This record gives sequence, C-alpha cells and structure tokens, in this order.
Amino acid sequence: MENIVSKTQLTYKTLAISLTFLFSSVVMAKPNVTIVATGGTIAGAGADATNSATYSAAKVPVDTLINAVPQIQNLANVNGVQALQIASESISDKELLTIARQVNELVKKDDVNGVVITHGTDTLEETAFFLNLVIHTDKPIVVVGSMRPSTAISADGPLNLYGAVALAASPESKGKGVLIFMNDSIFAARDTSKRINIHTNAFGSQWGALGMIVESKPYWFREGVKRNTSKSEFNIDQIKGDSLPLVQITYGSDSMTPIAYDAYAKAGVKAIVHAGTGNGSVPNYLVDTFNKLRSGGMQIIRSSRVADGFVLRNAEQPDDKYDWVVAHDLNPQKARLLTALALTKTTDTKEIQRMFWEY
Ligand code: GLU
Repeated sequence: MENIVSKTQLTYKTLAISLTFLFSSVVMAKPNVTIVATGGTIAGAGADATNSATYSAAKVPVDTLINAVPQIQNLANVNGVQALQIASESISDKELLTIARQVNELVKKDDVNGVVITHGTDTLEETAFFLNLVIHTDKPIVVVGSMRPSTAISADGPLNLYGAVALAASPESKGKGVLIFMNDSIFAARDTSKRINIHTNAFGSQWGALGMIVESKPYWFREGVKRNTSKSEFNIDQIKGDSLPLVQITYGSDSMTPIAYDAYAKAGVKAIVHAGTGNGSVPNYLVDTFNKLRSGGMQIIRSSRVADGFVLRNAEQPDDKYDWVVAHDLNPQKARLLTALALTKTTDTKEIQRMFWEY
C-alpha cells in the first residue's frame, strides 16, 4: 500500500516538474522575428564617420545590420533575408509587389511571429501603406529606416532597428496594422510621412504617433480606426503580375497648363491624383481638361499639396456633378497606391470614393 502511494506521489512529482518545465519554456520562449532588408540609408555607408549626409545608400548586407546590434537577439530569435538592395526612390510597383509577396510568405509561416522591413526613408511611407492594404495578417509588421548611414557618428539605424525588433516581437503590436518605427516613435502606416529630409525625427503624422518605445518596451497611446491588413478587401494573393494599374500624380500651383494631363491620358494612365492647392483645388482653366479626361474614362482623384488637413468632397469643386473622387486625408503618394489597388477591382467612382473613406 505504502509502495503504491509513494509511486503515485512520484508520478505526480514527475508530472509537476515536466509541466513546470513546459510552462517556463513556453513563457520564456522568444518570438521569432525576420528582418527583410531592402536597402536605404539604414544600410548606407559613407567614406568617413563625419559623413552623415553624403554617403551611398543600400550598401550594407542584412547580416551585417543584424550583427551590428547583437542586443536584438535578447528580444527575439532574429534572422534576416535580403529582399532588395536599393535606394527607395528607385522602388517601382514591381519592387513593391516583390516586397509584399516576400512579407506575405513570411507571415503565413507558423514559426514567424513578426516581420521588420528595413527600408530607405524616401518612400518608406509608400511601402508601409501598401503592405497595410494588401497583407492579411494580425502579426506585427514594422517598417524602419534611418536618417544617418551605418558608418556615421551617432548613426540612428542601430537603435531604430532595436526598437523595431522589440515592436515586432511584442504581442501588443498584433492587429494594429502595419507600423512605422522611427526615432523612438510608433506610427500608423496610413497617415505617416517623411516630413523633414535631414533630421532624425524625419517622420510625423498630423494625427500623432500611436506610441513610443523606451528601452524596448512599447507604450501605446492611441489606435487607428481605418481598415487595414486582415480587415482589408485587398489581398496580395489576388494580385497577379508585377505591375499595378498606372496612376500618376500631378502637382498643383498657380499658372498650370493641361500639357501634363493630356500627355498622361495619351500614355494610357488610368487615374491622375491631382495634388491640388488648398482643398485639392482645380484651376478654373483646367476644369474642362479634367472633365474631358474623365469622359474618356480616366479617374480624377483630388488630393492636396498641403501636408495636413483633408480634402472635403463637393467643397471648392462639385465632385458629385463631375464624377471625381477626393483622397480624404491621404497624401498624394498614398492616394496613388490606394487608387491603383482600387482599380484592380472597380472603375466605379462611388466604390473608389468608399475606399478612400474606409482606408
Ligand atoms: N534616398 C535613399 C533612400 O530612400 C536614402 C534616404 C534614406 O534612406 O534615408 O533609400
């Protein structure tokens, strides 16, 4: 009898030890984060450590970037893939689709908990917004860059990368859409842009940051209300080929001419995002041109050259009457991407306008 009791006790003890081990290994397990490197200043190299502005972007490979910040391995099991090695102003829809497909493959893997994309800052906002629209996942996706090359005194890339990995590794980042991390601040992809071309605090959003990272801990203060990632109707899995419907941007000013608009129409451009003055205004002497192009099937998207605020529909211009679309608060470069994706699904202006309200 005594023997049976002690055997049972032993079994319970073994079970307890195994459960404790299992529990602690689950609790202690570090998340897996993959860094998708695309180039930019974060991978830039200058001739001298004092060269913070004159350097070549997209030089340093992903493994060197990772090895330069060994502390990221305390936050997650980090591995890297070199998707591109490019300065981001040279990214076209082809590269954008390549990045999106690569990120999509990664987030589908059970053993990937989060993805960080290192990127040039020039078009970082475009890539982040595109991923925000086409990747169906709740896993954290963080796009990060730097303003100083890796070889500069006080390079900002290492700390930005450290924070980006912390963000991608954090369960709190799940389901918040694609995030931009720069200069300690966590931003939403849809409303964040590069606003200063020199300083390390180059990125901003008129609606403010979502939060901050301090010593690898995220502090959250607000959340976006617009559709993104798993709630998006766009899906990279459904986009075929390596181009998107052709959409171009024109810049508003005084003394414009119809030349560029007519040339774009002739070249087969499907939609023009007009970065108009003020409320996306159209000069009275261009209204006929716009309406002629609209009758020919081209979409007219009224955006604004003003960084903040949002374009009001049927104010300044009778959009309902002309069958034009307004870009809401999306800047022209983001409006270009949403329009291109919209055109993969519809040419109905009411539908396109709905998408601008919802994303
Ligand atoms: N123009 C380059 C790029 O966007 C360098 C700028 C940067 O990354 O800060 O890739």
